[in-house]
Amino acid sequence: MLGRLARWLRAIGCDTAQLPVHARDVEVVDCARHEDRVLLTRDRHLLRELRPPRAVEIIHDEPLEQLRAVVAAFAIARPAAFFTRCMIDNTVLHEVPLADVADRIPPLARETRGPITQCATCGRVYWRGSHARRMEHILETVFPPD
Ligand SMILES: [Zn+2]
Repeated sequence: MLGRLARWLRAIGCDTAQLPVHARDVEVVDCARHEDRVLLTRDRHLLRELRPPRAVEIIHDEPLEQLRAVVAAFAIARPAAFFTRCMIDNTVLHEVPLADVADRIPPLARETRGPITQCATCGRVYWRGSHARRMEHILETVFPPD
């Protein structure tokens, strides 16, 4: 339900787990408890019935508004760098030499500046192309100016 919010949270470096859509409410709450996570949910019924120890009800519909609300609720500081975790599976990315992944990225991406990183879990390669730069501009607006 909050898949896009999860991706944005990973983009700003937050350790973000996401359970499959078919997970039962009680599983979601147990996971949050065992892994000592804050549960983010839109499900008011779940919050009222199962009373997870740490939880935030997400009320906005738009993922960026949701992100703003979470950043404000936990006073999350702007990270030194964005895109340090895989957006898909939450793994911390490691930097790789261009030569190792040159055949896996488009020619233009080989000329972009900034580190090229890879996810050890899914193999996805990340580079600072125009898409990443657009996302960075959007993310800058989420954090209050210094
Ligand atoms: Zn990955």
